[in-house]
Amino acid sequence: MTAATPVLRIQALHKRFGSHHVLRGIDLDVLPGDRIAIIGSSGSGKSTLLRCLNFMEMPSAGQVVLKGRAVGRPVAGSDTLRYGESELSEVRKQVGMVFQQFNLFPHMTVLQNVMEGLVTVKRLPAAQARERAMAEIAKVGLAEKTSAYPGHLSGGQQQRVAIARALAMEPEVLLFDEPTSSLDPELVGEVLGTIRALADEGRTMLLVTHELGFAYHFANKVVFLADGLLHERGTPDEVLKHPKQERTQRFIERFT
Ligand code: ADP
Ligand code: MG
Repeated sequence: MTAATPVLRIQALHKRFGSHHVLRGIDLDVLPGDRIAIIGSSGSGKSTLLRCLNFMEMPSAGQVVLKGRAVGRPVAGSDTLRYGESELSEVRKQVGMVFQQFNLFPHMTVLQNVMEGLVTVKRLPAAQARERAMAEIAKVGLAEKTSAYPGHLSGGQQQRVAIARALAMEPEVLLFDEPTSSLDPELVGEVLGTIRALADEGRTMLLVTHELGFAYHFANKVVFLADGLLHERGTPDEVLKHPKQERTQRFIERFT
């Protein structure tokens, strides 16, 4: 039996902002069905890592391989790869993102928000886009809110719409960047419940979170990002309950 092809293979990934060297060589394989929790202090580069994976930020060096296909082409005399626009558009379809601040279009209804990418990026006919959007909205439990505007929804409902929007694109992997950090405490549970349901479907996901209790139950792997490197990695039990590195221990103590 051959090992499954990683959905994402992250190899020696670096990201610099000017002289600020944020990511210093990240290596990580994301296998089909992996649910990887990324933890680390504020400013450690967690968002930057996710943003490099769907190319909202361009890596400074290193490579991302999506389902066996390397993204970007080498440039003679440079560590930085060259990326074609159509290639990046293809990658972004396959790598979905859910943000801390939801990022819904305020002037569009729930249905329009979820349909938007299907029509403009996937080029589905309106009727088909509508049908798929309705199905995804129903799955996150918001079927009766399709005509509402984001401003009239709770934060938890808005985040569930954002999840429906990402799912509608049928991505290979979903990236969640602190999806509950801007929610009132009483709304966190409904969003985590939605994410847990996706895990039960076997979806491949990376989740940046400070909810270590949730990470423990949700993830099959946990990685701790510090100083631009994955300082420690392992099962939730290894990293969250029995961390080997003192740095990880100190981080986890602050959150428990
Ligand atoms: P985290 O998500 O772990 O809190 P970020 O990835 O947002 O961390 O940021 C890591 C570091 O990179 C921070 O010091 C931040 O100020 C810096 N940074 C992030 N994005 C940019 C950018 N577009 N330009 C310059 N610096 C950035
Ligand atoms: Mg962040």
